[in-house]
Amino acid sequence: MPATDASLMTPPSRTMNFNAGPAALPLAVLEACRDELVDFGNTGMSIMEHSHRGAAYEAVHNDAIARLRSLMAIPDGTGADGYDILFMQGGASQQFAQVAMNLLSPGASAGYIISGVWGEKAVAEARAVALHAEASVRVACTTASSTPGGAKYVRVPGADEVSLAPSDAYLHLTTNETIDGVQYATAPGAVFPSFGAVPVVADMSSDIAWRPIDVRQFGLIYAGAQKNLGPSGVTVVIIRRDLVEAGRTDIPVIFQYRTASRNTSLYNTPPTFSIYLMRQVLAWIGNLGGLDAVEARNRAKSGAIYRVIDRFPEFYRCPVAVESRSMMNIVFRLPTPALEEAFVATAEAHGMVGLWGHRSVGGIRASLYNAVEPAWVDALAQLMHDTATRHA
Ligand code: PMP
Repeated sequence: MPATDASLMTPPSRTMNFNAGPAALPLAVLEACRDELVDFGNTGMSIMEHSHRGAAYEAVHNDAIARLRSLMAIPDGTGADGYDILFMQGGASQQFAQVAMNLLSPGASAGYIISGVWGEKAVAEARAVALHAEASVRVACTTASSTPGGAKYVRVPGADEVSLAPSDAYLHLTTNETIDGVQYATAPGAVFPSFGAVPVVADMSSDIAWRPIDVRQFGLIYAGAQKNLGPSGVTVVIIRRDLVEAGRTDIPVIFQYRTASRNTSLYNTPPTFSIYLMRQVLAWIGNLGGLDAVEARNRAKSGAIYRVIDRFPEFYRCPVAVESRSMMNIVFRLPTPALEEAFVATAEAHGMVGLWGHRSVGGIRASLYNAVEPAWVDALAQLMHDTATRHA
């Protein structure tokens, strides 16, 4: 453990932000943004004031796409061998509906794996779409626990627990459940379960780009940028090109993935400032050494917190099964609500914010996204250590 409580008394120059999203952004990105806010690239105006059809913005836009492709090694082939990168609006919540709108045809079905609150929301929206599409949506597996009083979701399922149907157009899962702190494939080198030929649609809102993955395991990945990639306002969709083409043509053009694909996400005005800032964050990740380096940094951070939780099992309790413990959102309880109140108050006095769990589950949650500084996590681990020691 580094130092004692005294080291925490030094006021930090920057708030230690553990919010679940919108979340911390890299200081270097904010400073670069500040420096060119009123005069972008000697154009005498802000990037926000540029036309989305002009050369200055288009260069930013295309560079953001190119950087994400290179960072995540997103295949660029044709048909099933390539993926489009789309920038959408409406958040991941819009994708809950849009995925089903595009991929569910009459008579088709979709399976949903539910391992947390966001999966519940995704399947509810898909059901609303299916009703009008004469299609059906099924819970292919849920890990919800019926034990009263305990946490509802504490693990991801194995592939053998998931029921597939021949009519499934896709299988949807949430790779990291932000509220429940439940994540797939968390061990070093672990890969996602394989579900055969069915395209897997993944909500990666809270764990995109935290480490390298094999994009080819997925038919479609979507993620709001406001956790690991930048500010809110832009949602990234990575979609296999054959699925773009197979998408329905009888829904409004604005909701067809094909429209964004054919227009490089410039069919209508995109959220230019959000995309600009996301590009800066992608460049920052590149400067850190790419996703291998980011993974090592993120594992060191989550390891520091889980180590304290496991060292004081009488004081801290993480309800999540060890192999499903999220590397991004660490949820834990203290022995009483009063101790949790006192812990959060002390943390705030030391410059740490965003530590309350989601109101639907309570407890504490520390979100450790890419831009959360290791030094902040060390300070939090120290505070947790000192708090537990004081109550031992
Ligand atoms: N899915 C997950 C896993 C999330 O964490 C969130 C937001 N916290 C959403 C979906 C909804 O995202 P948005 O607010 O961008 O619609």
